Amino acid sequence: MELLKNKVLQEGKVLSGKVLKVDSFLNHQMDPVLMKEVGREFTRRFDGERITKVLTIESSGIAPGIMTALELNVPMIFARKQKSLTLREDIFVEKVFSFTKQETNEITVSRKFIQPGERVLIVDDFLANGEAAFGLARIVEQAGAEVAGIGIVIEKAFQPGRRVLKEAGYRVESLVRIGSLEDGQVTFAEDGE
Ligand code: 5GP
Repeated sequence: MELLKNKVLQEGKVLSGKVLKVDSFLNHQMDPVLMKEVGREFTRRFDGERITKVLTIESSGIAPGIMTALELNVPMIFARKQKSLTLREDIFVEKVFSFTKQETNEITVSRKFIQPGERVLIVDDFLANGEAAFGLARIVEQAGAEVAGIGIVIEKAFQPGRRVLKEAGYRVESLVRIGSLEDGQVTFAEDGE
């Protein structure tokens, strides 16, 4: 997606060799025009998947998630992140290790929002090791619903997330793929595998 590539090149800041900061359009200030295009592009790519709901994770997944849900005309749910939880029967819970914060969170979704048989599209801002997306997929499966696909705004292709998710049988679509952040420079990966 050219618009997104240009934004990443113009406004992305490389923190260490592995983390990209995009707080001017995705992670703090958000660009609604760009998010609208993101929603359109995911809708085009997952056309025919009979999606009934979009699932993302707070907080940076919410903007791309809601714009995708708007295009698809389905509801969006965001999983909440919590440090630790007392056992509750009304929620689905999964443990997710956060790549950026280097800590484990429990992510939760109320049981009433995902029904057996639903086809859920997972959307997130970044893909690194695949922990967040995998945790969301496990929640969908706990509910007896199906993962229709995983839509990622920015994939870091030098980390194993895509491979892990594909090996588990999920379809992954990323709008841009970063091949390297070495020497403070963003280099894009070729499209494809
Ligand atoms: P994963 O769970 O795939 O290891 O990492 C993805 C999650 O970590 C995303 O939800 C995102 O919030 C965060 N993340 C991973 N890498 C980056 C990065 O380079 N930049 C930013 N801003 N967030 C990242």
